[in-house]
Amino acid sequence: MQQNYDRPRQRMVQEQLINRGITSPRVIAAMSRVHRHHFAGDAFLTHAYKDKSLPIGEGQTISQPYIVAKMTELLDLKGHEKVLEIGTGCGYQTAVLSLLCKRVYSIERIESLHSLARKNLRKGRHSNVMLKCGDGLQGWEEYAAFDAIIVTAGGFASDVWLEQLADNGFLLLPEGEGKSHRLVRRQKQASKVVEEYFDDCTFVPLLSGVTG
Ligand code: SAH
Repeated sequence: MQQNYDRPRQRMVQEQLINRGITSPRVIAAMSRVHRHHFAGDAFLTHAYKDKSLPIGEGQTISQPYIVAKMTELLDLKGHEKVLEIGTGCGYQTAVLSLLCKRVYSIERIESLHSLARKNLRKGRHSNVMLKCGDGLQGWEEYAAFDAIIVTAGGFASDVWLEQLADNGFLLLPEGEGKSHRLVRRQKQASKVVEEYFDDCTFVPLLSGVTG
């Protein structure tokens, strides 16, 4: 019999998101709708709504629900935006974003995860998503400028990202060396870039090149 995950998901939203300060009704609704257990591998089904990151293969992880919600909230999406995501992974964050903006363009450097995300997102009928297997450090020139850019691997920003960001758009990434990162949000304004820092966190590394 197929297990129903509605209750664990609602509990996750209340305890891990609302109780910890996520307030955007749109983000809360999106996190309530996306079936995280469809993105977690079968071995981790029962962990899908726990307060932790989950392995997705190839040594990579989906972030814990709070971090996914927090990063999404910081983008302040209204619905009309083109969003570039670097690090598709299994496609969970992509799915959440797809409910909140016009179109998501997402790049993954590991071929097998790129294919996994495609399968997961098709199953969830997230049709406003374009995926590419490539090196996200190059951005996605063809579809620039983006209204927001979100990076879901930890490291330092590529200069290309600010170039491919629209005026007043946000670039959000976990910045720092090794395993010690901090969420930084940069807003590109006419003659300057405004920078704000948020939560400490740990992400898998941002790496260059493409791999099978
Ligand atoms: N948002 C993802 C999290 C995946 S973990 C999810 O919800 O599942 C971060 C991902 O970034 C990994 O899959 C990793 O392979 C990818 N990554 C790291 N450096 C990259 C780069 N330069 N370009 C594209 N993807 C990259």
